[in-house]
Formats: sequence, C-alpha cells, structure tokens
Amino acid sequence: MREIKLFINGEFQTSSKDFISSNPATNEPFAKVYLPSEKHIDAAVDAAEEAFHSHEWRSMDQIKRAEILEAISEKMKERRNELTEVEIADSGSCVRKAKADVHNAASYFKVLAGQLRKFQFEVKDESASRAGFSNNFKIYEPVGVCAQIIPWNFPLVMAAWKIGPVIASGCTTVLKTAQETPASAAILAEILKDSGLPKGVVNIITGGAAEGEHLLKNPKVRKVAFTGSTHVGKKIMEGAGKNLQRLSLELGGKSANIVLDDADLSLAVDGALYAFLYHSGQACDSGTRLFVEEKIYPSFKEALIKRASEVKVGLPHDPATGYGPVINKKQFDTIMGYINTSKKEGAKLLFGGERVTGGEFDKGYYIKPTLFEVTPENTIFNEEIFGPVVAITPVKNEDEAIKLANKSVYGLAGAVWSKNSERAKSVAKRLEAGTIWINEYHLLNPGMPFGGYKQSGLGREMGEEGLKSYLEVKHLWISDCDERSKKPWFDAIF
Ligand code: NAD
Repeated sequence: MREIKLFINGEFQTSSKDFISSNPATNEPFAKVYLPSEKHIDAAVDAAEEAFHSHEWRSMDQIKRAEILEAISEKMKERRNELTEVEIADSGSCVRKAKADVHNAASYFKVLAGQLRKFQFEVKDESASRAGFSNNFKIYEPVGVCAQIIPWNFPLVMAAWKIGPVIASGCTTVLKTAQETPASAAILAEILKDSGLPKGVVNIITGGAAEGEHLLKNPKVRKVAFTGSTHVGKKIMEGAGKNLQRLSLELGGKSANIVLDDADLSLAVDGALYAFLYHSGQACDSGTRLFVEEKIYPSFKEALIKRASEVKVGLPHDPATGYGPVINKKQFDTIMGYINTSKKEGAKLLFGGERVTGGEFDKGYYIKPTLFEVTPENTIFNEEIFGPVVAITPVKNEDEAIKLANKSVYGLAGAVWSKNSERAKSVAKRLEAGTIWINEYHLLNPGMPFGGYKQSGLGREMGEEGLKSYLEVKHLWISDCDERSKKPWFDAIF
C-alpha cells in the first residue's frame, strides 16, 4: 500500500496519527495517510519562515526560479503515468480526466516559468516620475509565508495552482491538501525536491478542518490562499481579518450556461452536457444552470435527453468512460438529497435522478446524468450541488436569460452558445462572472486569470493577476533634486 507522508523542511515524515484512505471506485484501501499533529503544523510554518528569510531563497533570481518551475514541469511529464494512476485511485477521476489533469498541471508550471522570465519586479513609472524632482519605481516583493488549502476535486491541478506562484514570487508555503485526496501532492513533493527547490520553501501536509484551522491561525502566516466551499471561505475570511492576512479565495459556483436561439444546436447540446457532467459534476465552474431560448427549447430538450442517455457512466479505467464515481458516500448522500428535494418541490425530472448499480458499480457511488426542468424558486436553481445534476429553465429571450443568470450569489463562470459572435459577446459582457466562454466550456488558459465575482471568491489565480496576488508592491521614491529651494517641503518646518 502507498504511504503518504508529511513533507516538512525537505524531509518526508511519519506521525503517530494515520488513517487508511480508499479508492472511490472500488472502496478498497489505497493508501496509509499520516496526519500532522499541531507540532508538525507549527514546524512546517517555522520551516517556511526560515526558508523565506534564508539567503539562498531571497537571493535566488527569477531566472533560476523559472528554471526550477521548468524542471518541475519536465519531471511531472516523466512521471505522468504514475501521477495519472494515483489521481484515479485517490479521487475517482476517470482516466481521460486524470490524464488531462496531469497535462494541465505540468503545463501550468511551464507557462508560469515563461511569465516569470518576462515579469518586471522593478518598474520605473515614467508618467509618475519628473526630471529634476523624482524618479518613481514600483518594486514587487514576495508577501512572505503563505498557508494554502485545497479541495479534493482536482487535487493535482489545485496543488499546482498554489505552489506555482509561491515559487515564482519568492514566497514560501505550507500547503494543506484535502484529507480525501492527499496522494498526488506527495509525488509532487518528491518532484519539488528533485527539481532543486531549497528545503522549507514548500511544505505539504494533509488533514481536515482542525488541521486547516490550526495552520491558518499561526501569526507567521502572511497570506492565506484557499480553494473550497463558500461556507468555509467565509469563516476563513473572518479569521484572516484578525491579523490582516492577505487573502485569495476560490469558492463555489452555480454557473449559467445560456443557449441562444441561433446556436449550433448539436454543439450546444454536447457542450451543455460536458459543462455539468465533467468529473461527475464535481467542478467548481460546472454549468449547472442551463437557460435555453424558448424558440429552440423543444428540439434542444429532446436532443439533450437523447445525448444524456448516451453518456457512459463507467469505471474509471475504461477509456470510454465519460465520468465515474463521486468522491464518497457523504457527497453521494448530498447529491441524492438535492435530487429528492427537487422531486418534492415539483421540479420536472427529465432524465436520470438515480444511482447506477450492479456488479462493480455497487462498490462505488455512481449517479446517472440528471436533468431537471426548474423555476428560480427551486432549491437546485440556487444551491451548489457538486454532482451530475443540471437545472434547466426555458427563457423568453436573452434579456430574461441574463437577468436569471445574474440572479445568484455566485459568479464564478458561465457560457453563451450562439453562431453570432457579436451577439454572444454582448450577452457575455452583461454576465456577472469571472470567466465566460462563448461556444466553449471548462477550458482554462494558464496565462489568463481565473476566479469569481460575488460569493465565488476574492482575487484571481493564474495569469499576471495570480502572480501579483503573491507580491507586495513597494513605491520607491528616489529624489532627483538636491536643491533645497526646489523641495516643496523645505519651508515646512525650517
Ligand atoms: P470544503 O470547503 O469543505 O473544503 C476545502 C478544504 O478546506 C479542505 O482541504 C478542507 O479540509 C479544508 N477545510 C474545511 N474546513 C476548514 C476550516 N474551518 N478551516 C480551514 N480549512 C478547512 O470544500 P470541498 O468539499 O473539499 O470542495 C468542494 C468545494 O470547493 C465546492 O464548493 C467547489 O465549488 C469549491 N471549489 C472551488 C474552486 C475554485 O477555483 N473556485 C475549485 C475547486 C473547488
């Protein structure tokens, strides 16, 4: 059985607290996972602080840091098969999704390295400077010790999005993985070590709420970066306020997917299914509210039901599987709870709504693609489910679609389907969300920012905005004037 150890100050450590994690598809034991004690967590923060102030890390230039990021990317590619297998066994990802995750995480480190090579940590602002008076510079400096917390749905990608900017910026961190999915980050820790990253720069532990809370309240932590539910995100924001820790929050979503009457119907149908079914719907940006213009609704609905019946809910290793099990019984119960509530509320079930059973399927928790026709009053119109369930609402026109799309506390993502790109763009610009696709879904570009409006988060990951969220900016004023008579302050007190 695999052993998942703590990675503190460049060393792999065991502890006296451990548990056996199981494979979501088979329910069989997969790994022995060591949980950190409070002492381990404090030691990890101490290691991060020591590394932050170390000469080796502070004096390492950006080109060397970019080379480390590139080495990480290369080593991830070399170990891609192992990473894929571990991600499947740990998170229940199907093989197609797990392969994509390894590719995306490795690419992110590579793209970030490219950004870092070009990033100007010192910029003279010519428009603010005045010859004979002042030279004004912006100097970007690392924030310091970070505490980062990630969820279980995309374990490797989430770890990459957190660790990447720490290395690029010159910060240091303690990353806490979700207790459900600690395995791929443990391989990443080996890769970091092999890539020449100095000890203590990145420390990796796992655990649940108690371990997370203990980590965040350490006064040495200057920045908190959290990805998870909005409910926990709010608590974390309250805690971060006590010491004014810098904060990035990537939270939940209830993203709107709008199909206009001039859309390519078959593309929009497949896009709508991909939007809410990818990884069993356990993606923060899932398109879980589907708005379709009335004119095309009957034919769209018919095609959607037909295509939903063709999606293969399957075992993770089957290359034909579209999506596999949900992560665990707790998540299964949550999803089935929402399905039952919707039925009780009178929402119209168009397809699915049931567990997939029989043979190997009985070992995990698999749910059929589930389509409900709803009104904005229904619970599933408003609440994030994190399962393969979509809430469909026909709309009179694009104005109604926009109004209902924005009727949400969330604002993470969304999409518009239309053959008229100008029309689609004008709709996209009126939607309150951090990422909008036109005739596309789920695809992310590591060079572009990702994050939420409203209660979907605070700040952005990836892109230049993501890197800058790990940097403080210092205004450096260098006087260009030695003559006392020309200094505006000289008369002030003399
Ligand atoms: P969660 O909020 O329950 O847990 C997320 C992480 O926080 C886990 O590591 C957990 O151990 C830790 N945690 C829980 N309580 C804590 C506390 N009080 N203090 C400190 N840490 C604590 O979320 P989840 O169920 O693991 O993940 C699903 C959620 O994550 C969904 O809401 C989803 O939308 C969101 N998510 C958002 C993004 C994004 O980029 N916006 C990406 C992935 C997932």
